[in-house]
Amino acid sequence: MKHLLPVLPFVLAAGVLPATADAAPSERAVEIAHKYIIVDGHVDAPMHVVTKGADLSTGEKTAEFDFERAKEGGLDAPFMSIYVAATYEEAGGAKARADILIGLIEGVAAQYPDKYEIAYSPKDVRRIFKAGKIALPLGMENGSPIEGDLKNLKHFYDRGIRYITLAHSKSNHISDSSYDDNKRWGGLSPFGFQLVDAMNDLGIMVDVSHLSDGAIEDVLDVTRAPVIASHSSMRHFTPGFERNLSDELAKKISDNGGVIMINYGSAFLTEEANKYSDARSAAQAAEEEKLGHKMTSDEIAAFREVWSESNPYPFATLENVLDHIDRAVEIAGIDHVGLGTDYDGVGDSLPTGLKDVRSFPVLVDGLLERGYDEAAIEKILGGNSLRVWEEVEKARRKRKF
Ligand SMILES: [Zn+2]
Repeated sequence: MKHLLPVLPFVLAAGVLPATADAAPSERAVEIAHKYIIVDGHVDAPMHVVTKGADLSTGEKTAEFDFERAKEGGLDAPFMSIYVAATYEEAGGAKARADILIGLIEGVAAQYPDKYEIAYSPKDVRRIFKAGKIALPLGMENGSPIEGDLKNLKHFYDRGIRYITLAHSKSNHISDSSYDDNKRWGGLSPFGFQLVDAMNDLGIMVDVSHLSDGAIEDVLDVTRAPVIASHSSMRHFTPGFERNLSDELAKKISDNGGVIMINYGSAFLTEEANKYSDARSAAQAAEEEKLGHKMTSDEIAAFREVWSESNPYPFATLENVLDHIDRAVEIAGIDHVGLGTDYDGVGDSLPTGLKDVRSFPVLVDGLLERGYDEAAIEKILGGNSLRVWEEVEKARRKRKF
């Protein structure tokens, strides 16, 4: 829903309900998924707490993440997305919005102290994992809440934010966005360069997902610490889709020591799914041409319903996710690939068989079948992401804010 790929309303209108993780994983895969720490770079469950009052313990009103299902799947450290829409940049209130969301997740942890704990460091993640609970590290999606003031960066560090996705769907005061044709900075803004430096000093990971190619290049030129792409896949499979990483950038992230966390949204995985909304818009335009007038919203909904019957949404598969992992490993190396599923953030566009956080053993089976050994699987599941976070901590420098 947040990704400007308007598949969700359409898919729901077509009456397609999310399926469960239906393929039964092997015992070995279940064991591996529970033996090692699984880090997910991007889970959008907080948005559902805000908009629907979702209960992250019981799963009531969440789509894809809750305690029970995370435990079943072996998920240990999902980064909770403190997502602030790009519209706040102009309208104001971005910082307040982020503060409210952080407060909500603090509330979840306080309400269920036997299940959840906010994690402020990789050490916390390991301790919380050992205690049998789920760690909730915080990542901020969109730098708008910084509001051009490094004091706010320190404020959000103190509140627990450990990565910031510098921009979201629009260019902001920090950086250009892959989704925005207006590349007003040609990469990072002058303040964006200062911000990256300050993030390095504080120990906040720089997240290059959503950024334009130019902005990612700028970040990599100046950062003193490894970066993350918290939820991006490989552009090789979706040519022209700047939101995914080119092989060249994937290589540079590897050279920087960073980690590429693969996004599960079908539109990130296959060209067919990526182009789906374009095809539907084209069909709609052709229909309007035939009718000789613009359709009303009711007419559009009716048209889409009929169109979907002959053009079902092309859900990606486990094999597609594995193809992206293989490609990322081939280009960036086994030490630079992780997972950033985007659960609860991409509507019902998740791959068949990977529909919610119970799915990690299914992925592990796929990795085993593709020949990854246990050590390599451990790296992909969470080892690489935790290593990068630790390196970012080590790169900290004292400074005044
Ligand atoms: Zn996103």
